Amino acid sequence: MDEFSFIESIKQKAYNQASLIKGIGDDAAVFRETQQDIVTAVDTFVEGVHFSRQTMQAFHVGYRILAANLSDMAAMGAKPAYYLVSIVIPDNWSMEDLSHIFEGMKSLSSVYKIDLIGGDTVSGDQMMISITVIGFTEKGKARYRHDAKAGDIVFVTGTLGDSQAGFYILTNPGSYKDKTYYVKKHQMPVPQVNFSRSLQGIARLSLNDISDGIANEAAEIAEASKVSITINDDVIPTSHAYRQFPQKLQKHWKYYGGEDFELIGTVPEHDWPYVKKMACLHDVQVTEVGKVTVGNKPGTVFVNVNNQIAVLPKKGYTHLK
Ligand code: ADP
Ligand code: MG
Repeated sequence: MDEFSFIESIKQKAYNQASLIKGIGDDAAVFRETQQDIVTAVDTFVEGVHFSRQTMQAFHVGYRILAANLSDMAAMGAKPAYYLVSIVIPDNWSMEDLSHIFEGMKSLSSVYKIDLIGGDTVSGDQMMISITVIGFTEKGKARYRHDAKAGDIVFVTGTLGDSQAGFYILTNPGSYKDKTYYVKKHQMPVPQVNFSRSLQGIARLSLNDISDGIANEAAEIAEASKVSITINDDVIPTSHAYRQFPQKLQKHWKYYGGEDFELIGTVPEHDWPYVKKMACLHDVQVTEVGKVTVGNKPGTVFVNVNNQIAVLPKKGYTHLK
């Protein structure tokens, strides 16, 4: 298959987004938007660095990279609309593999009715995929890291550490409880787009997605907002069978295990019941894990373990991806 028929094969038969004027097939895509703010992000995945074929099928590679992008949209409170895919293809990936990558993306994009409107296809030595996503928010309604204030409740969605647990299972064969659950959390994470969109009515909300572990993401909010954050160790949500893993890893993954693509946020106390209500409506678990505090050391995250408060060091999990 040549480049031309490849592009033809990944092209959508029809588009979902009303603002689209020109999709795939010209030198660039065109859409028109006058009423909303435009939010855009890009993510790049390199084989051997961000994923390997030992733990991911081609389908999962496509699914997961788009999920990571959509998670950035969720973290901004944006509604995703379009994506563009730049791909570097080495010899050892077949046309079939490639179509599975795009099927993985499609299985997720169809859920959110987002359109593939362009990209670039080249050959090279190493598989690399870069996705640009474009979304919209109501004017002035993007959610930033810099909006946390003292007294806010700190919350997270879902359970933490599951993606790394899935990776551990895939790389340490054995018998595990809830194996399928963990592996799925690693290969096919769910971006919290709908839940994030449901919080639009809240006047002030800071959000970040948990791509590198809660320690890192909480620190990003604390730094951007010039506040400190205290997290209570005993309430950090973990999954049902999480205790089966070595204790040291449990602890490491829940703070530093990346790629859960859950959200961490802060809201004023009076908005917390609304957050819980929306979470319930969207069948999303949400947990209060701490408080935004002022005073000593703005930009720092503290952790309370059995009433002993210590600094939670900001170190992501990137080296072990
Ligand atoms: P040009 O040479 O003008 O850059 P291309 O031949 O690279 O155009 O691309 C033709 C069309 O196919 C464009 O609309 C481009 O956005 C789209 N396209 C190319 N590669 C991809 C891809 N990997 N995913 C989605 N669209 C793609
Ligand atoms: Mg081109």
